[in-house]
Amino acid sequence: KAKGGDTYEFFEAEMNAAFLARRRMEMDLAGAIEDDRITVHYQPLVDLDSGAVVAFEALARWEHPTHGFVPPSDFIALAEETGQIDTIGRIVMEKACADAARWPNDVRVAINLSPVQFRSGSLFANVKRALELSGLHATRLELEITEALLLERTEMVVSTLHALRGLGARISMDDFGTGYSSLSYLRSFPFDKIKIDRSFVRDLASSSDAAAIVRTIVDLGASLGMKVTAEGIEDGAAADLLRAQGCAEGQGYYFGRPQPVSAIEAGMLAATLPALKRA
Ligand code: C2E
Ligand code: MG
Ligand code: MG
Ligand code: MG
Repeated sequence: KAKGGDTYEFFEAEMNAAFLARRRMEMDLAGAIEDDRITVHYQPLVDLDSGAVVAFEALARWEHPTHGFVPPSDFIALAEETGQIDTIGRIVMEKACADAARWPNDVRVAINLSPVQFRSGSLFANVKRALELSGLHATRLELEITEALLLERTEMVVSTLHALRGLGARISMDDFGTGYSSLSYLRSFPFDKIKIDRSFVRDLASSSDAAAIVRTIVDLGASLGMKVTAEGIEDGAAADLLRAQGCAEGQGYYFGRPQPVSAIEAGMLAATLPALKRA
């Protein structure tokens, strides 16, 4: 009995520690929002045929004063539980639209939306406001959602997606193939783009199953009139395979890692210099 008591106290102490650590992170995140320390990095999406950059995906970053960079997989999940995702989502949307408004007109910006942002009813107004503040045309905006959103296939979700698309924004299905009954979701909403999850791309060369799945998703996209992008391309061989299979776009460390806006804008400027010199 004494031993059981110790075990119980041990678990209780562990649980308290975990609870306190989480509570501390939540408060630190609130501080980061307050002090404008949530930033955005950008990773290129490339046309696999021409090699041209067609868009940059905005990826939220949080540099914690003592823990360093906290991965979005951690702090986005936390923010979804606490409700802070509405504010973070709005910050990323406003920063990314303002940055993209400075880029060439044929370069779009892709922004991730959490399913939780669809619950509050303010998402559409926030997107519209970010577009107005920045002057960015809605057709230069891609909104990435995951299958998790469509698990709750509510009237609110579907009508918000239609309203956003009505503005001129494109809707992409992110991390395709990792959720549940993916195929039925493709029928529930007219997506503009499917992003093949990194896990299939990673195993492309080594697994004939992964290769068959990638081929099937590319064919599916073609039949449904949806553009197909592959994420997580880490080498030239994967890029070649995907191009050969008819995949239109790619994203991954092979083409570029997520970088601060200053770095990608320096890259865009460098790319225009030869043209300027010729002129
Ligand atoms: P995602 O939307 O699927 O974004 C792609 C993730 O894959 C990014 O991770 C990117 O850095 C990583 N990645 C890209 N290419 C490669 C590659 O070649 N190899 C490998 N190993 N990884 C690659 P990141 O930035 O850590 O973001 C993780 C996830 O967090 C995102 O996945 C997205 O679901 C979420 N996220 C990030 N920013 C936001 C945001 O502002 N709002 C919301 N709701 N979610 C966000
Ligand atoms: Mg994404
Ligand atoms: Mg993705
Ligand atoms: Mg992914």
